[in-house]
Amino acid sequence: MNYRHAFHAGNFADVIKHIALVAVLRHLRQKDKPFCIIDTHAGAGIYDLESTEAARTGEAAAGIGRLLSLHDDPQLPDALRAYLTLVKQEGEGRYPGSARIATRLLRPQDRLVAIERHPVAAGTLHTSLSGIRNARVVEADGYERLPALLPPHERRGVILIDPPYEAENEFTRVGEALAAAHRRFATGIYVVWYPIKSRAAVDALYGEASASGIGQTLRVEVETDRVSSPERERLAGAGLLIVNPPFGFDDRMRRIASVVAPLLGRTNQKPATITVV
Ligand code: SAM
Repeated sequence: MNYRHAFHAGNFADVIKHIALVAVLRHLRQKDKPFCIIDTHAGAGIYDLESTEAARTGEAAAGIGRLLSLHDDPQLPDALRAYLTLVKQEGEGRYPGSARIATRLLRPQDRLVAIERHPVAAGTLHTSLSGIRNARVVEADGYERLPALLPPHERRGVILIDPPYEAENEFTRVGEALAAAHRRFATGIYVVWYPIKSRAAVDALYGEASASGIGQTLRVEVETDRVSSPERERLAGAGLLIVNPPFGFDDRMRRIASVVAPLLGRTNQKPATITVV
């Protein structure tokens, strides 16, 4: 249990994951019917981009740091603008994690369950969501807790599965958790984050999803020319497996990709590659 997201908050992978989350939540808000968000690996909720951890990796500077100036562009796709507004509203040097982003898009009828196993991160999460009536923090193992929460009584919602991939069997655990969750709540939208270090591991995850009868998936991957290493801190690529993507979500993400990819490469000269298939 060594992983600490403070080193990586706001990096290129977080940026794509959080834009996608905002786009999904904006879709769910189109109907008045309530929805539920379950964040199985919620992290701390808020991150200090001026911390020694963030400064040491410089990842936020090369991620969200490069995007903030886009905010005033009148041509910006809506979900991207909404995401940048949320980040800016936190104030300079602060970056919201998935759970906090989720709370910003909750309406009174919606709810969030944010699960975090690490006691220190769970404590910060608690503080960062305090006062939000329809957000609940659960200090627990996200994989173990998820089945009991499904299906949510709202019968609409999104499940974000965003583990640290510290454990060697994490891809397998994610695949099993996704299949089991889908059996209980087949109409839910699932957003599963994964690092791209081994194509075989990624392909196996999609293979397992398809073998479990999960038909509708979308793949969003961002790859940079950063020098990769076995450590997540030098991650060069990351992806999202999205189950039951909302109608038109792929085109929306493609539009956003065309705006952000040029800014997310290792250097300003070489754009990142963002694939939406
Ligand atoms: N979802 C967050 C976001 O987008 O801002 C980032 C989460 S971070 C990648 C992964 C988090 O999962 C860490 O805070 C770690 O402590 C936590 N974690 C690790 N194993 C867990 C488990 N089995 N259940 C719940 N949380 C876990």
